[in-house]
Amino acid sequence: MTPSRILLVYTGGTIGSEEDLNTGALKPLNFDHLRNRVPEVEGLEAELEFESMAPIDSSDMTPVRWSELARLLHLRRDRYDGFVVLHGTDTMAYTASALSFMLPDFGKPVVLTGSQLPIGVLRTDGKENLLTAIEIAAKWDSTDPNRGPLVREVVIYFGDELLRGNRAHKQDAEGFQAMTSPNFPALAEVGIHVRFRRDLLLRPLGEPALRVDIEPNVTVVHLHPGLTTDALRHQLSQPGLRAAILRTYGSGNAPRNADFLAVLAEAQEAGVFMVNVTQCTVGSVDANRYVTGAGLTRLGVEPSLDITLEAALTKLMVLAAQEPTREGLRAAFKLDFAGEQTPADVIR
Ligand code: ASP
Repeated sequence: MTPSRILLVYTGGTIGSEEDLNTGALKPLNFDHLRNRVPEVEGLEAELEFESMAPIDSSDMTPVRWSELARLLHLRRDRYDGFVVLHGTDTMAYTASALSFMLPDFGKPVVLTGSQLPIGVLRTDGKENLLTAIEIAAKWDSTDPNRGPLVREVVIYFGDELLRGNRAHKQDAEGFQAMTSPNFPALAEVGIHVRFRRDLLLRPLGEPALRVDIEPNVTVVHLHPGLTTDALRHQLSQPGLRAAILRTYGSGNAPRNADFLAVLAEAQEAGVFMVNVTQCTVGSVDANRYVTGAGLTRLGVEPSLDITLEAALTKLMVLAAQEPTREGLRAAFKLDFAGEQTPADVIR
């Protein structure tokens, strides 16, 4: 069988980090450096090519860079069978989520990976992450007569876990199992063998597209006891604000206090689309379970089910750029675009 053609895209992060000793800036990783550090790549059944974006620590990630990355992948789509994106772990779950919405029906694997220790360090986790990410991107679907790739969506491979990109969350600042998927099973069990959960893998239905525009006027309000109405109003009355995520308690609860609800009513009046996303990592918003949550829904705050913060935020940014009205945005937000949320009738 001919080997898959895989493009490695380096965006920065710890995996390739080597600081310029004079400036402290990250130096671009080049392919020779990578080959020297991980000579095992030559043994993989894949033809590798390499491209580097200007490298950043992923805490410097911006919507503009998401657009650049999505455009690059879209432009190269026909030339390669799969893609591995080397990325810092800090915002990896945001980038994976954003790409899943910006590249609908991409139909080829986009595997994000990185590491907690640089690839040149003896105990690095980067080597295994990189090699297995390439192996996953290069895997053919043996049941497909047209020889398509097995994975056809944006995923994260990290610390023995293959996760749907828009279900992932960084849970650990130090451990090698930094990423988790709190509300959706892993897409493969990775040990001696990589055993895929074929029943969970997405199969695109339409033609590949590119949604390159992003609306950055979306905000996240983290509720906490003592949050003042002034602080809340300040955040919700920013000029041009299109959407706000309310990070609520438990199964979607918020204070019943009249002043608090009045500020939300003002935002609703001003056309801001508000979404109820719980602060809990595991579980879903059930806005009708307690009166405190039901009050939000009555005001027009959309209960978000089990979507992660990362996916809710990037989904709103991508959809708000396409939907000029609040109700258009609400209707679009409720749809499941890339496996990012479990349907309400499945959750309960
Ligand atoms: N600060 C780094 C980044 O996200 C951490 C990492 O790569 O793991 O770019």
